[in-house]
Amino acid sequence: MKLATVLLLAMTCAAQVPNWCKSLPRPGYQTLQRVASPDPWFEVYHVSPGVFAIYEPHQSEETISYLITGSKQALLLDTGMGIGNLKKVVSSLTKLPVAVLNTHTHFDHVGNNWQFNTVYGMDTDFTRLSAKGSKEDVQADIGPAEICGTLPVGFDAKSFVTKPWKIATYKHDGDKLDLGGRTLRIITTPGHTPDALCVFDETNGFLFTGDTYYPGTVWLYRPETDLQAYGKSLDKLLLILPQVKNVLGAHNFPGAKPEVITNLAKTFQEVLAGKLQGKPAGPGQVRYKSRDISFLLKAN
Ligand SMILES: [Zn+2]
Repeated sequence: MKLATVLLLAMTCAAQVPNWCKSLPRPGYQTLQRVASPDPWFEVYHVSPGVFAIYEPHQSEETISYLITGSKQALLLDTGMGIGNLKKVVSSLTKLPVAVLNTHTHFDHVGNNWQFNTVYGMDTDFTRLSAKGSKEDVQADIGPAEICGTLPVGFDAKSFVTKPWKIATYKHDGDKLDLGGRTLRIITTPGHTPDALCVFDETNGFLFTGDTYYPGTVWLYRPETDLQAYGKSLDKLLLILPQVKNVLGAHNFPGAKPEVITNLAKTFQEVLAGKLQGKPAGPGQVRYKSRDISFLLKAN
């Protein structure tokens, strides 16, 4: 091969690597203990005893699902994109019975719900609609610009859909999930979606925030987003903040200092009060940034 051809090939390959992918791995992962995963689509990290982060670094959402175990039962908080075989990974981590709870039912958190028999749901129309499955959102998120590395062998992007699932039991604000030696409390935090929730492990001070907070730009521009409700939900989180030691969101990295919730609430209040200047970011969207927080809203 001529040198020019080699160079051209190298340039073509480089051009195909999306920018977000070039900055991976995120440095914080070096501080976490990696656990073997039977499906290479996922990276599994041991966050603390009985808590695993199941991360999908090969797709631009960088979704994180959490497996939280007690002595009797395990809770799988979200099920990711639906690209890899999550059940295989979960079975390798625990032999306990597993129930699924979604931090909200956007497509990137419910993709493998169909693999599990017990899926809790929030009693909202949005949840029931999501449970019927969908196609548009996942199709928009599976093109080459969204993939870092390779899709699993045999995965057909063209026919990729979010499969429907059955809601086994409805859960409500304040409900407790006793896993045996670990009790989790559901705190409903509508705003990002009508069925958004956080899960609080009071004993360990872990607050699992779904997409209400994650280290990255928080999306608040979709039709199902309710900004007033989001503001109230943040007030709710501030009330328990003195007991929080670690904030675990559903994208990018599994862990943040409790102060992020204070900053999130302050910054969001400034956005609502018109005190922050937003910058146009894509069609019909505005990005607001302050402190270590960033929001993406619909342009007025
Ligand atoms: Zn979401």
